[in-house]
Amino acid sequence: MGESNWAGNHTYGADAVTTPRTVDEVRAAVAAATHVKALGSRHCFNDIADSPGGVLLDLRALDTGVEIGDGTVTVGGSARYGDFAQQLHAAGYALPNLASLPHITVAGSVATGTHGSGRRQPGLAAAVSAVELVTADGGLRTFTRADAAFPGLVVGLGAAGVVTRLTLDVVPAFDVRQDVFDGLPWDAAYRHFDEIEDAGYSVSMFTNWVNDAVDQVWVKSRVDAFTERPELFGAVPADGPRHPAHAAGIPADNCTPQQGVPGPWHDRLPHFALAFTPSVGDELQSEYFVPYRDAVAAVRAVREIGDLVAPLLLVSEIRAIAGDDLWLSPCHGGDRVALHFTWQPRQPEVEAVLPVLEERLAPFGARPHWGKLFDAVPEHYPRLADFRALVAGLDPQGKFRNPFLERHVFGG
Ligand SMILES: Cc1cc2nc3c(=O)[nH]c(=O)nc-3n(C[C@H](O)[C@H](O)[C@H](O)COP(=O)(O)OP(=O)(O)OC[C@H]3O[C@@H](n4cnc5c(N)ncnc54)[C@H](O)[C@@H]3O)c2cc1C
Repeated sequence: MGESNWAGNHTYGADAVTTPRTVDEVRAAVAAATHVKALGSRHCFNDIADSPGGVLLDLRALDTGVEIGDGTVTVGGSARYGDFAQQLHAAGYALPNLASLPHITVAGSVATGTHGSGRRQPGLAAAVSAVELVTADGGLRTFTRADAAFPGLVVGLGAAGVVTRLTLDVVPAFDVRQDVFDGLPWDAAYRHFDEIEDAGYSVSMFTNWVNDAVDQVWVKSRVDAFTERPELFGAVPADGPRHPAHAAGIPADNCTPQQGVPGPWHDRLPHFALAFTPSVGDELQSEYFVPYRDAVAAVRAVREIGDLVAPLLLVSEIRAIAGDDLWLSPCHGGDRVALHFTWQPRQPEVEAVLPVLEERLAPFGARPHWGKLFDAVPEHYPRLADFRALVAGLDPQGKFRNPFLERHVFGG
């Protein structure tokens, strides 16, 4: 069929892509299919969304509207964060956090455990309070936090069914400012890691692992809880807007406003603005989550192989994420730090380095991001057997299973 993901590094092997316009059309398509999966905005870098020989449901035409309630917002299975954030803000509400880009769908993001940054901010799936799901038999079921299966379904890897609606917790709207600091000496990053992570609502460190210092630290602060800092443990305020890959010569044109200019949460929490191509564009990505307490040791371990990693890299990002109880969330069971790699589009060379990287991070029980490139998923998910049983019960014929799930989840 020739359609591919956002990065263009995976061509879907499904026989057909269909575009249902109503929930009933989704139900009919699922009931009729032998193999089927939903597509989000296609921002994953692997075959997690594919259904070789089956049908892909592109939900873009499924407009189920946006309902803002008291402390919640309910959106459709195809909604992208950027589609309703402004409307939410205008109604006086905010989502607690966003990923680096608003271009991704809520359903696709929470399915893979997508996250933003912030030591006290869990991944985006933690905001989900209810999920409406089309199950393998074409049935329509709603699961809420009151259901025992709920923590297994939210980071569901698209394995349990097609999500047609999600309800998310919201908080009162807030404004954010971004301040970027250049050149954080590595020894200061190691010694003051906790204080740096606590320097704002959301903190990101950008590095290529081999430079003498962390190239940039982005501090996103709530305007109502801002602390003025003339410097950050030796890092100095940037003299202009920065792209995360500034060191690779990329201009900041597609980034959200920096240099302390306040603005609404939805226009500062993502690094990249909705109207532009996010990140670099021509790239691949990988990411590994290690326990928060091991962050400095894990960073040191990657720096030891910096010479292997850096030639393939555009930039790396280090972010902290609060833990949650969702069974397949990479942050299940405790706070984690994510070591992210934006690679040059040289997949065979990247894939040769990933096992080396994973070996280095294995002592920390590193979990890979489900939506990015990785070699293997270690059995570091205590509820994995429960997830397998849950999916087997909802989808006994394996309609929603695919080679990715067989390789990494079901062990087939
Ligand atoms: C430039 C860029 C920046 C990124 N930044 C971040 C970041 O800051 N943090 C982070 O954690 N990740 C990040 N990612 C990764 C991205 O957030 C994830 O890959 C996310 O899953 C993409 O969502 P999507 O809508 O594109 O889903 P897709 O890639 O289309 O699908 C992902 C999975 O969700 C399933 N799915 C999608 N919709 C539904 C539905 N309605 N019902 C059931 N299953 C469904 C699919 O079947 C598939 O299994 C980034 C990716 C890119 C390309």
